[in-house]
Amino acid sequence: LVRLRSRLSRSQNSLGKGLLTLLSRERLDEDTWEEIEEILLTADVGVAPTQELVERLRTRVRVLGTRTPDELRALLREELITLLDPELDRTLHTESHEESPAVLMVVGVNGTGKTTTTGKLARVLVADGHSVVLGAADTFRAAAADQLQTWGERVGARTVRGPEGGDPASIAFDAVKEGIAEGADAVLIDTAGRLHTKTGLMDELGKVKRVVEKHGPVDEVLLVLDATTGQNGLVQARVFAEVVDITGIVLTKLDGTAKGGIVVAVQRELGVPVKLVGLGEGADDMAPFEPGAFVDALIG
Ligand code: GDP
Repeated sequence: LVRLRSRLSRSQNSLGKGLLTLLSRERLDEDTWEEIEEILLTADVGVAPTQELVERLRTRVRVLGTRTPDELRALLREELITLLDPELDRTLHTESHEESPAVLMVVGVNGTGKTTTTGKLARVLVADGHSVVLGAADTFRAAAADQLQTWGERVGARTVRGPEGGDPASIAFDAVKEGIAEGADAVLIDTAGRLHTKTGLMDELGKVKRVVEKHGPVDEVLLVLDATTGQNGLVQARVFAEVVDITGIVLTKLDGTAKGGIVVAVQRELGVPVKLVGLGEGADDMAPFEPGAFVDALIG
């Protein structure tokens, strides 16, 4: 929690503080509620969830009558957590099967942090005592395979790669084959995220998944989204969700934005839980997403 709090940018932290300050005003008039709405919209919470939250807060504050700072903090905390859908199952499925390793595909637009996320995930799994094989199926971005291999060497995971511009599905297939041969616990597949045509993407990601499934089930398809891209990220998310079944979202670069409200928006949009958050470029800068801890870091 301490790390989460220190990594969420100061501006983002001020989101929670700003809301608390406004709520503590002597009179909560129409202008104040509008300011509260504005703060939430600026943080990319989205129109419908913002209206919902303000409505619920208004009702509860009215019913409550007297408002001590502690009461207000507790109220805001509860309502923000509710907005984050705390009931969603955020388990990351990394357990191997009898005959085959757990397979996790990492998808998303280039530049969102796919390769970095794959590396960080490998590190977490290796640290937990799992043996990991990496599949460098992002053959579109020239440096991606090198970058992934560097992560692999750093954390102690072997990287399966192919020729530059090679067929991503065949590399993914080989990586899982290798994982099975080595008796690895998990195979993580980094994919390419070219978005220029939806059919191209669909063909490629769909094919990667189908080919990998010849070996065994794909346990997670994690969509990586850059939190700093706001509504744009939502549009991307929609496209990916149309072409593959996303099982979880990784929201990266939360350390560099005041727009943490995108967590709410993207979960609503896709009906898929945010499972992990990226909080920096370093190997340890990733955390499981936990609504309570996230809100506590926000409102301090
Ligand atoms: P890819 O093209 O999707 O594979 O993106 P990369 O993994 O290469 O990441 C693109 C850039 O974003 C790199 O400079 C990463 O170091 C950086 N990056 C990735 N995740 C995070 C994060 O959580 N926070 C910050 N600040 N930077 C990140």
